[in-house]
Amino acid sequence: MAQPLQPARGTHDLIGEDFRRHHHVVDTARRVAALYGFEEWATPIFEDTRVFFRTLGETSDVVTKEMYTFEDRGGDSVTLRPEYTAGLCRALVTNGLTQTLPRKVFAAGPMFRYERPQKGRYRQFHQIDLEVLGAAEPLADAEVIACGWHILSDLGVAEGTVLEINTLGDAPSRDAYRAALIAYFLGHKDGLSAESQARLERNPLRVVDSKDAKDKAIVADAPTIHAHLTPEASAFYDSVRRHLDRFGVPYRENPRIVRGLDYYSHTAFEFVTDRLGAQGTVLGGGRYNGLVEEMGGPSTPCVGWAAGIERLSLLLEGAGRTPPAPRPVAVIPVGEAAEAVALDAAQALRRVGLAAEVAYKGNLKRRMERANKLNARAAVIIGDDEIAAGTVQFRDLDAGTQESVALAELPARLS
Ligand code: ATP
Ligand code: MG
Repeated sequence: MAQPLQPARGTHDLIGEDFRRHHHVVDTARRVAALYGFEEWATPIFEDTRVFFRTLGETSDVVTKEMYTFEDRGGDSVTLRPEYTAGLCRALVTNGLTQTLPRKVFAAGPMFRYERPQKGRYRQFHQIDLEVLGAAEPLADAEVIACGWHILSDLGVAEGTVLEINTLGDAPSRDAYRAALIAYFLGHKDGLSAESQARLERNPLRVVDSKDAKDKAIVADAPTIHAHLTPEASAFYDSVRRHLDRFGVPYRENPRIVRGLDYYSHTAFEFVTDRLGAQGTVLGGGRYNGLVEEMGGPSTPCVGWAAGIERLSLLLEGAGRTPPAPRPVAVIPVGEAAEAVALDAAQALRRVGLAAEVAYKGNLKRRMERANKLNARAAVIIGDDEIAAGTVQFRDLDAGTQESVALAELPARLS
């Protein structure tokens, strides 16, 4: 036999409980997003590299070291999507939807980043994503956050998370803040990591976002944006917080939240947890401008977030919230003549939406063993006597009771 092949580094299979948790996250998010008027889109898993390259920022971690970029056989540079937002903005433009704004979009699917794999950090991972495309109002910021909080609450994991919010101001606020940051970091340049030294003048916000321990110590005393906010930017931030209060979403202000990508302005936020070790951010997002323009569309203010499904699944698991496996009804023929009747009975159950299983082979004992293994809720046993009488033996596997039920009444009896 050949050596078994391993999954590619940083990828993982979704099987059994893992799959059920994953599915439950997506289902819950999809359902709640619809309650807030979000429609679901799906965009391609790979895009023209330019969709991501300039938009995410040439100094962002994702662009500098995490993108899966390659030339395809035709010589075009394509990139496996590292995030959803840029592709959704591209789709807004290429589908001619910029005249019908706002568009409220929900999406879910796999993402790809070349990272060092560890718990809660993979090379292929999955996100749920929410965007309001084309809304400048602070109510939109609060609404996407409230919807995120609603999803976490319905998943039963909101308790273990804290919403942290900040503002990155408008362009004049940020210019003033950048200058203050550069001055501060230059004064501490020798203590910074080599990477932060290299980008501190081009993009000092990246330094604030650094995960390096040396950097973090210096960042702790760095100036915050608040002294540099214009009156308009301050008013916007106040309004977002007021709306959050009205939605009843609890939050904590954290001036260190700057987000890792270049396109953010005004609101930035993260739901963080102390339950996942170093991978503490489960959901992150903010307001952004300029992205739709980069794709060739008109100036379009947007706000949105993405959450990692694997990290949410880990929280579900920790909270004992793994959805149970569905419990089928095992239909068990005894004798050859019963086989056809059993298959018909199983089809009748499936047609009314009840999961039913007929084992491919085996005597009564083996089939009962298999029913138990499947955690079947009931066994329906059909032998020659039952066929003659038009009945089945109905065994409730939880209660341990058995009774005779008319074959025709079986679906109603189980519903
Ligand atoms: P981190 O700081 O953990 O690297 P990030 O800021 O790069 O996260 P975003 O780009 O904001 O993450 O993506 C949103 C969410 O997607 C994250 O909060 C996280 O839950 C999830 N996520 C990001 N990268 C990964 C990954 N490599 N593996 C699993 N989940 C991820
Ligand atoms: Mg990252």
